[in-house]
Amino acid sequence: MRLDDPLSAHFRLIEAQKTALAKLGVLTVRDLLYHFPFRYDIAGAEASISGLMPGQETTVVGRVVKLEAKKGWKSRIPMTEGFIEDATARIKVRWFNQPYIAKMYAEGTLVRAVGKVSGSPGKIYLANPELQKISATESPLFNPKKDSPGASAASGQGERKENPSSDLFAIYSESRGVTSLWFRSAIKKILPLAEVEDPVPAALLKKYNLPTLRTALVWAHQPKNLKTAEAARKRFAFEEVFYIQLVRQADRLAAKKEKAFAVMQGDVESFVGAFPFSPTQAQKNAIKTLLADMGQGHPMSRLLEGDVGSGKTAVAAAAAYATVHTRPEGQDFGTLQVAYMAPTEILAKQHFESFIKFFERFPINIGLITGSGCYKFPSKVNRDKITAISRAQLLKWVANGEIPVLIGTHALIQKAVQFKHLALVIIDEQHRFGTSQRRALAKKEKILPHLLSMTATPIPRTLALTVYGDLDLTLLDEMPPGRKRVITEIVRPSERRAAYEKMREELAAGRQAYVICPRIDEPDPDKAFALQAKSVKAEAKRLKKDIFPEYAMDILHSKMRPAQKDAVMLKFANGDIDILVATSVVEVGVNVPNATMIFIEGAERFGLSQLHQLRGRVVRSTHQAYCFVSPESKGEATMARLKALVTAKNGFALAEADLLQRGPGELAGRKQWGISDVGMEAIKNLKLVEAARAEALTLIEKDAALVGHPLLKETLAARAMHMHFE
Ligand code: ADP
Ligand code: MG
Repeated sequence: MRLDDPLSAHFRLIEAQKTALAKLGVLTVRDLLYHFPFRYDIAGAEASISGLMPGQETTVVGRVVKLEAKKGWKSRIPMTEGFIEDATARIKVRWFNQPYIAKMYAEGTLVRAVGKVSGSPGKIYLANPELQKISATESPLFNPKKDSPGASAASGQGERKENPSSDLFAIYSESRGVTSLWFRSAIKKILPLAEVEDPVPAALLKKYNLPTLRTALVWAHQPKNLKTAEAARKRFAFEEVFYIQLVRQADRLAAKKEKAFAVMQGDVESFVGAFPFSPTQAQKNAIKTLLADMGQGHPMSRLLEGDVGSGKTAVAAAAAYATVHTRPEGQDFGTLQVAYMAPTEILAKQHFESFIKFFERFPINIGLITGSGCYKFPSKVNRDKITAISRAQLLKWVANGEIPVLIGTHALIQKAVQFKHLALVIIDEQHRFGTSQRRALAKKEKILPHLLSMTATPIPRTLALTVYGDLDLTLLDEMPPGRKRVITEIVRPSERRAAYEKMREELAAGRQAYVICPRIDEPDPDKAFALQAKSVKAEAKRLKKDIFPEYAMDILHSKMRPAQKDAVMLKFANGDIDILVATSVVEVGVNVPNATMIFIEGAERFGLSQLHQLRGRVVRSTHQAYCFVSPESKGEATMARLKALVTAKNGFALAEADLLQRGPGELAGRKQWGISDVGMEAIKNLKLVEAARAEALTLIEKDAALVGHPLLKETLAARAMHMHFE
């Protein structure tokens, strides 16, 4: 049995199972073996639902099925009803006077329920059970409820197996149609038959004291005890980071060997000297590092990470300046070119305008290409004006090198856009942009452009090392002087009025404000939940009607069409809207210096770094800015987290705090990284990440094509498909 075999070759699967497995991404034997349990139970510590009897206090673990808010038949008491289902049966659950519970646990949520079995035999239910969500990413693999049999006896369930040696058994993320039980027996069947060869070099396993692949698989799925289970997890975490690093380091090394234009520094000092401000030390250092790197004749691959407002655009402009003042090798005419890509049209326009200002005293042609039109600066007729030009005209001037700097959205990397001597690609707020994309851009010259990737997403160092392992990292960890710190305050319900008054003061002074809500709409008439989480639409109506009738208001959320969104943002940027009520879509992006206030509703629903990003919307201003965060609840943990937001020095500190407090599942943007839960777990462990990275680098430096490690090469190729490597 080979790891790449489809499961259907070895199992007779009914349609429902096929669908369920596909949904979990489990298609091959390998997928099944790598579908790790996220938790282990000690046999008997929890009751199985099928054995419950009325009168018992019990703990069950299962999935939530069909929770609904209802009214009692006669009493008209609001309540929630539904089921909890485990591998053995389902039991009805019922809460009185708590209709909102229905909204708190989505269908399929895995929970531990503690409560009393009520009703009569055959018609039992759990009355007002306490539910606790069990999360696959936050409480990973090893979360046995009780380690000692004594402790479990205290909760007094009936159905317990008479087996005090208490073997662990694996609990998997399930989907309707495949249960943990199914996984356990399927894995039991294939484990002895699967051809498992370990791609990780034996010397490494020995050095880091890690089990072999076969042993680790057995320990992960059928652990003898927690120690072996943990050793297995460590191995898979190492393995995943090691694999990712191999690919990244190979990419990095390959890029380093390619040819790139050697960019001359030219008179970059005069250029920087003409900035309307003096650059921070961090900006100076970054510019120096970048230019040294770009002068090498091999492609730079660099990530510039800096909080919102730290001045990344100026650094990009300096790199662009040097580039457009370098002649192509062996030519005494023409210049190298720069492509600057932004995630949205509005941002592209803003960069266009910033560049026009930065290059005011060093005039060059700058182009803008977006979905809705093309522009050039300066206009031939009027040297201080922007002019609209046809796409064909713009493409022609880019292709013949007359436009040395082209700014744009994704439109920039379409096939039709051909540069003459593209030497530098700048990517703003975009995540992965690898060698292959660069190669596509460089199609003509076969000379790879330098890459400057910029982000304000503060991510922990371990994660940066992993996801951006192929990039060199430069931090802009200093804010321009004189920038007023955003005054951040936690708004308790009793302080809401005062906060609105402060907001009114700002609005009256001509400033603008954001109001951020966790949800878009209020499709459900369930008042209890409506009170719990504010929605953009309802909140905008309420504010307009009751609080700020005299101010212009509009809304922004992800369900709007891009053109609609752009139109609203543009109106806000032009000052035609005073208050913008939005979801977190405003997180990345637009610079509206006149907006000085952001009011965040349901603040505990956002991650700390996300809150920090949101707050970043108002740091642009030279006016004092305010960030009001209003939690729905005032639990201690919520307050502690929000206090971290008030005191934290920068985004990096908050990202680390998020990682420690909420777990890797909560890191902003995790979806796009294609790292598994086990891999994300590893992100908490700097030593492990550094070791895996160092080992990958050593191996790649010796054997870039993995000629001596065919199995490793094969494994990477097989896994690349679902790990989203380039
Ligand atoms: P970000 O890093 O978020 O992209 P920007 O490059 O947009 O930040 O810069 C934010 C604002 O700060 C801009 O108006 C820019 O002109 C200004 N700025 C940048 N560097 C400095 C500096 N060293 N001193 C003062 N203002 C600066
Ligand atoms: Mg920026």
